Amino acid sequence: MTQSPPALEPPRGFPVVGMVGGGQLARMTQQAAIALGIGFTVLSARADDSAARAVRDVVVGDPDDPEALAAFGRGCDVVTFDHEQVPAPGLAALESSGTQVRPGSHSLTHAQDKIVMRQALTAAGAPCPAWLEWGPGTTMAHVTAEIGWPAVVKTSRGGYDGRGVWVAADETELAEVLAHPLQPGARWLIEQYVPFTAELSAQVARSPHGQAVAYPVVRTVQTDGICKEVVAPAPDIDDDTAVAAQELALRIAGELDVVGMLAVEMFFVDGNVLVNELAMRPHNSGHWTIEGAVTSQFENHLRAVLDLPLGSPEPVAPFTVMVNVLGGDHPDMYRAYLHCMARDPALHIHMYGKEVRPGRKIGHVTVSGDDPEDLLARARHAADYLTGVIDE
Ligand code: ADP
Repeated sequence: MTQSPPALEPPRGFPVVGMVGGGQLARMTQQAAIALGIGFTVLSARADDSAARAVRDVVVGDPDDPEALAAFGRGCDVVTFDHEQVPAPGLAALESSGTQVRPGSHSLTHAQDKIVMRQALTAAGAPCPAWLEWGPGTTMAHVTAEIGWPAVVKTSRGGYDGRGVWVAADETELAEVLAHPLQPGARWLIEQYVPFTAELSAQVARSPHGQAVAYPVVRTVQTDGICKEVVAPAPDIDDDTAVAAQELALRIAGELDVVGMLAVEMFFVDGNVLVNELAMRPHNSGHWTIEGAVTSQFENHLRAVLDLPLGSPEPVAPFTVMVNVLGGDHPDMYRAYLHCMARDPALHIHMYGKEVRPGRKIGHVTVSGDDPEDLLARARHAADYLTGVIDE
């Protein structure tokens, strides 16, 4: 156990928010916490995690350990999360530690398990791809009849950034995927392969007393299951679809009693939206809001979990784009700053203080303006230059 510095009390009346998980989401939430003047502490698995490098009041401990969680909770007014994968015993320990846990376990369970999510969304009448659980009585004939081929296979728990998602072209490939070991508590979800024209994300913030705000619906681009780019607002969907997506996200937030930020990832297909999955925390599809919206997703997450009035989600520019910086072969990114900053002073470059590993999210670049294609070209150039994909 690493020694943590003694926590400082915030000024009188100001609460302490604790975030479980020390990734870049916690790191960026701290920036909003600083502006609000509240206390902010993080439970981080490692002393060199992204947020642990930046947050003063960091507790290094195992977020999967119920005792560590309960002890962490006792030092906070509200506990929230930078990831949803906290096991149930830990959530129960937190909820009995006397602190507010937001979102609560009754909501969070829908972001932890894709089958639980599909069941709740289907019950609520939210449009989803056709799906079934591969259980003891399920046969290939069921998949053929109810889902069709190709079929998408997912582990219900523990997947992220496309890990735990496979596309099976036929029965043979499906059998191969189903032969993989499942982590304890996980089940197999089989879904219709959606031939989407775009992936969208609708983010909303919702507070305990029920106030909610909706951000503009954005277009996301995934490569190998990892979010690569975001354009806000989504340039190629009509206003009616965008409003319908916002209303759907608001309805899901209410149905599931979400507190804090909710991202509803959607497929846009044949002029309609289908829900892919839910995230109950600040989300990669909302990083653009730091510079591109009146109130960032990180500030609105804090306002929501503290039951403060929510900030405006309105954009401050016609378009804002965000391109992720994914680790490449260059371990030293700092030298690239000189070129990127000199070439385009309007860029906002964020680095998360993480060691470079191929494919790992280590930063992002944001830029706002009028022309999404021009903005994408500029942000992509910087991301590629930082990672050494290009050198001029
Ligand atoms: P993760 O939880 O790892 O982010 P997702 O369920 O979001 O996994 O899937 C990752 C990506 O795989 C999606 O962004 C999408 O590009 C693709 N995908 C997932 N489900 C489907 C589907 N039913 N049809 C087509 N593509 C899908």
